[in-house]
Amino acid sequence: MTVAVKHLTHFINGQEVEGKSGRFGDVYNPTTGEVIAQVPLATAQETREAIAFAQKAFPQWRDTSVAKRASIVMKFRNLLAANMETLLTIICTESGKTKEDARGEITRGLESVDLAIGAPHLTKGEYSVNVGGQINAYSAKYPLGVVAAISPFNFPIMVPLAQTSMAVAVGNAVILKASEKVPMTALFVSQLWKEAGLPDGIWTVVNGDKDAVNELLENKDVHAISFVGSTPVAKYIYETGAKHGKRVTALGGGKNNMVVMPDADLEQVANSFIGAAYGAASQRCMAISTIMPVGKETGDRLVAILKEKINALKVGSYEEADTDFGPVISAQSKEMVVKAINHAEAQGATVVCDGRQNEMVNEQGFFVGPTLLDHITTDMDIFEQEVFGPARNIVRVASLDEAIALINSQELANGVTIFTNDGAAARKFTTEVDVGMLGVNVPIPIPVGYHNFAGFKGSRFGEGHMFGPDQARFFTKTKTISERWLEPTEKTTSTFAFPSN
Ligand code: NAD
Repeated sequence: MTVAVKHLTHFINGQEVEGKSGRFGDVYNPTTGEVIAQVPLATAQETREAIAFAQKAFPQWRDTSVAKRASIVMKFRNLLAANMETLLTIICTESGKTKEDARGEITRGLESVDLAIGAPHLTKGEYSVNVGGQINAYSAKYPLGVVAAISPFNFPIMVPLAQTSMAVAVGNAVILKASEKVPMTALFVSQLWKEAGLPDGIWTVVNGDKDAVNELLENKDVHAISFVGSTPVAKYIYETGAKHGKRVTALGGGKNNMVVMPDADLEQVANSFIGAAYGAASQRCMAISTIMPVGKETGDRLVAILKEKINALKVGSYEEADTDFGPVISAQSKEMVVKAINHAEAQGATVVCDGRQNEMVNEQGFFVGPTLLDHITTDMDIFEQEVFGPARNIVRVASLDEAIALINSQELANGVTIFTNDGAAARKFTTEVDVGMLGVNVPIPIPVGYHNFAGFKGSRFGEGHMFGPDQARFFTKTKTISERWLEPTEKTTSTFAFPSN
């Protein structure tokens, strides 16, 4: 049975707006391999028009009381929760992730909206009385104006919510350039913002590719860019945005390591690793890519346990309740994962579990089975390369010092974790490892929504965070105001010395 292909739009000035470029991208159901929708790819001119509507809407939203803004964000939050089932269907259809995984993503996204409801608290300023000569001084946070978020495919709702909820709540007009691979979630979310009472023009979705992105990066009326995606694009966004005078936070990819000390409970380690490594077909920036057992015996015991568990994993459709993980996002993505496995094998890796042989590989959907590669060494490309699919590595090390040195030698520094019962080892690890998000006996150390989230080095360009209270800082500018009101009878004289108190 062939499915009817949906004709998608943009969401501009509170309306669904047809694309005018004549260019479209195919949106797939990765589970069946079928094209399910066509998404318009905006031109620079269409993006400019959307920015102009946002710019026009901004002053009224800026001047709306913080309490009123927060109440609209609260309504939006309740609508997201009430529409959970619809969201699950859309996310699973266009991303291929399992229902349980999609539910987790929505729940984590809601944490960002919850935090944004607290924007009035997070944007309170500071006040000092009588700093000198009857002057009071205060600092206050003001919204920036039109701001933009550019999001990746792998979290169709969590990442856009984390990038935009606070930006809306603190009074900006927000333009989301959603991933062209999963645009349907963003368009549905647009309807919920409208239903919540957000004024037209404050929430915009421009669908597109680099033409739309370049306009957002260069347009003088866009004041901040929040980007999440792959490292090469993150670097480009940071450099181009900064060149055009914008504040930019650009989060990139991850190659996350799990160190296993000899004293750890290996059964528990294996269970933790498998979920964190293969969940969502390993398409998470915080997925564990590499397990690093310390000592030969730890490595040998771990491989035996992992082999059995990994070979028992079920790859399949989100419609089957016992599926552990689904397909990767596209045929190209599948090809890249298989190529990375072939290349690692050719460079000397031992294939412990071979996802290329999984029966699902022959289906129309974009499936690759779980793959585990042992004896990965620093001279192999896969040691550093982010493989966005279920090919995971074992790097064997002789000591904790060696593990820390190898981790610190890598360019991507998003997340890392250690499994141990030794507090001193954990303390040494968290002190010496140069990575943004760390775990101790926690498989995916993704912070909760009210803590700041970001990696270091090639995993983040710029100094802002996604998630967390830092969003309130990133999406506002601070004015510091010195104020004096004299009695009508009081007189001042000219002073030519630099003011001092
Ligand atoms: P991607 O970099 O291909 O695309 C991200 C966004 O950038 C999309 O909206 C896309 O349309 C746009 N884009 C792509 N190429 C562009 C170009 N040349 N010029 C301008 N814009 C461009 O990333 P993806 O494949 O959608 O997502 C997966 C990547 O995102 C992985 O590397 C993953 O680790 C990373 N990621 C990072 C985090 C994090 O928090 N650090 C979170 C999720 C995903």
